[in-house]
Amino acid sequence: MTVYDVVVIGAGLGGLTAAAILARSGHKVLVIERSNSVGGAASSYKVGDLFVEGSLHETSNPQSPRDPKHDILGRAGVLDAVQWIPSGNFYEVRGGPLRHPFVLPDNFTAALAALTQRFPEARSGIEHVLQEMQRMATNGAAVDASPRTEPALSLAAKFDQVFGDREAVKCALAANLSYYHDDPATLGWQQFAVAQGRYLLSGGRFIEGGSQRLSSALARAVRAAGGHVLVRRVVSHIDIGASGTRIGATVTHTARDGSDPQTVTCERVVSNAAPAVLTSLAPAPVAEKLTQAYAQQKPSISLFALTLGLKRPPREFGITSYSTQLLPDWMQRLTDYADGTRLMAELPNGRMPPLAIVDYDAIASGIPAPPYVLSVVAPDHLANWTSPDPDSYRSKRARWQAALVDYLDSHYPGLADAIVASTFNTAQSVRQYLNAPHGAVYGFAPASGRSPRTPIAGLYLASAYAGSGGFTGAVQAGGACADMILADAEAADISIGVEMKA
Ligand SMILES: Cc1cc2nc3c(=O)[nH]c(=O)nc-3n(C[C@H](O)[C@H](O)[C@H](O)COP(=O)(O)OP(=O)(O)OC[C@H]3O[C@@H](n4cnc5c(N)ncnc54)[C@H](O)[C@@H]3O)c2cc1C
Repeated sequence: MTVYDVVVIGAGLGGLTAAAILARSGHKVLVIERSNSVGGAASSYKVGDLFVEGSLHETSNPQSPRDPKHDILGRAGVLDAVQWIPSGNFYEVRGGPLRHPFVLPDNFTAALAALTQRFPEARSGIEHVLQEMQRMATNGAAVDASPRTEPALSLAAKFDQVFGDREAVKCALAANLSYYHDDPATLGWQQFAVAQGRYLLSGGRFIEGGSQRLSSALARAVRAAGGHVLVRRVVSHIDIGASGTRIGATVTHTARDGSDPQTVTCERVVSNAAPAVLTSLAPAPVAEKLTQAYAQQKPSISLFALTLGLKRPPREFGITSYSTQLLPDWMQRLTDYADGTRLMAELPNGRMPPLAIVDYDAIASGIPAPPYVLSVVAPDHLANWTSPDPDSYRSKRARWQAALVDYLDSHYPGLADAIVASTFNTAQSVRQYLNAPHGAVYGFAPASGRSPRTPIAGLYLASAYAGSGGFTGAVQAGGACADMILADAEAADISIGVEMKA
């Protein structure tokens, strides 16, 4: 039987990043993924003629040495394996309390100029928050594990302090809230400032040809370094027990129908799957410790994703930017954003959530067209989709899809008639496709103090759950997990050496 140093459960960005770094550092690594292909959320695929990007609108530019992904993806051997395409501006924001569209550039200097020109009465506040964001994003820890001593200042509270009731400037600065969370009253100012500041430090990027290219490059890096990557295999059981300084574990995986169980032995286990998934795989005492350790953590938001294939380029219907944040008219305050998440609990009634819209044809995205791909994403909640049976779920989803298309058509006339293909993934789809409890797309809700280390020796997390969500968060967690294992393995080797000498 092959004995591995490390078995990784799941081939999302976090798991693949950890696996690639460990394999390239000489560890014998096995990655096991339940889906047809690697990538988790960072996947792209085709439905008929329609190209579907599973997640990526924008990530901060990893080619900048200031970006936290720079060194990690370099060590994983994939930094230059894909093309990082500039998104142009960070985003355009329309609607809500803004009377006219506003374009936020993706660097601090131009953002300051654009914001102060548009909101001259808020100049000193704009300067203050941008300076803080720049400082925090520059100093942002790789994975912030510092214990919290005082309640965090929320984004809403910070903006109230600085801008009072000037809601338009608040929305201009944070219209893309769904990149992190849905509620400015519970999102920490620090979490927002670091994450948003990183886009303004290094610029927004898309991966030419879609996010699958990055995931596939990571899997190739694992294999090139002698590691193994299995797909269509589900981890069904882990057993992990400490013996002295060496940790022993077994991991059992099966075909997707539960047949063909196989068990591998390893020293350490890395989970890219959610901690709640781990508890269902581990023996009761391990599961209990894990449950206790994560009991206080709330899940992140989910997202729905409507992908439309158009017969003509989206710009012909008035879509003027790569990334548009379309705020609904009922949203007059930034804090109203959170009210959009639960709208899909009911049938459509005229109120629409705030939408993040991406036109992949607006940049050299490498996404095939026609049909021209328009991606529409917004916060969603699993509880919105507790339909009693599959038919009523599908019918409600179809009603919402039709309502969203009508709404888009009212802003971009002619768009509805140009649709030739579409897919609509909800929080329910996220839960199912990614085995993500609650349909969470960013791991736990944003907070500091997280780490890849679990209370179980030899068991680590490499996923959004170990730090923060998004491409940056998942890659950072993968890098931090690999570093932790390398340090733990070295410490174990030293202590075994000491024992042997004694
Ligand atoms: C619609 C959408 C839009 C998004 N847009 C952006 C964006 O523009 N920018 C950005 O930065 N982020 C975006 N994100 C978020 C980002 O994609 C995720 O936060 C990140 O990719 C999560 O990576 P991960 O490695 O933590 O987990 P995941 O990608 O969830 O990977 C976990 C993997 O584990 C596997 N797994 C689970 N259980 C088992 C098991 N028992 N056996 C084997 N395998 C298992 C799953 O199949 C999955 O492949 C978006 C996400 C979505 C859904």
